[in-house]
Amino acid sequence: MDLLSGIGRAAGDIGSRLLDLALPATCAGCEREGAGLCRDCLPALDGRLLCPPGTPIGLPGDVPSPLVQVEWCASFNGVTRRALHRLKYAGDRRLAVPLGRAVGRRWARAGVGGQVLVPVPASPDRVRDRGYDQAALIAQAASAVCGLPVRPLLERSRATTAQFDLDREARTGNVANAFRLRHPRSEIGPPGARPAPGDARPMLDGVWVVLVDDVLTTGSTLAACARVLLDDGALAVSAVTVARER
Ligand SMILES: [Zn+2]
Repeated sequence: MDLLSGIGRAAGDIGSRLLDLALPATCAGCEREGAGLCRDCLPALDGRLLCPPGTPIGLPGDVPSPLVQVEWCASFNGVTRRALHRLKYAGDRRLAVPLGRAVGRRWARAGVGGQVLVPVPASPDRVRDRGYDQAALIAQAASAVCGLPVRPLLERSRATTAQFDLDREARTGNVANAFRLRHPRSEIGPPGARPAPGDARPMLDGVWVVLVDDVLTTGSTLAACARVLLDDGALAVSAVTVARER
């Protein structure tokens, strides 16, 4: 009996340790045990919640063309940076919920126009490695707060180098033509729109898209996505991210 219960206990310990490895039960901001982000660290995600829309911090008036508006929740540092890092590189997908809710709050407060949320797709290799696409999860959580539906319209058309390895000019070249429409006839509304077979244009015609991504750096990735959507008939493209890097 002792042997069996000993084995049972050991198996339970191993099981819970594996669970701990899979989902670190600590706050990404302060390492305190408990939620993915504790109550003390959560407010860091709303660093700009009370800023009026379009208020530039640091670099004035630098909305990357052809986007009409770019919004973000907080600077890319401290708690926000650690939470994004854990979501992207440590497999803790739980963090997409608080990060996405912050995106939804910021967009509900500062967004002008916009009818659908379109996540910026990660590369298929990274999605395979992580088991999820972090921008898609962020968009889903944001949708529940701001009320706009999520439409995963874009995909990568070729592999790109990780943007953080490149300077500003190289980043633009790296992502040029890196995106395309995922399903030319995806249902994106408005309701009742019926495209001709193979024609994306009627589906995107008159639709104001809001791109969703994790971090905004130079904006070259967002601009590359916006060009695809505008070429296929979108009325306008805005963007909202968790963080902005300076
Ligand atoms: Zn904390």
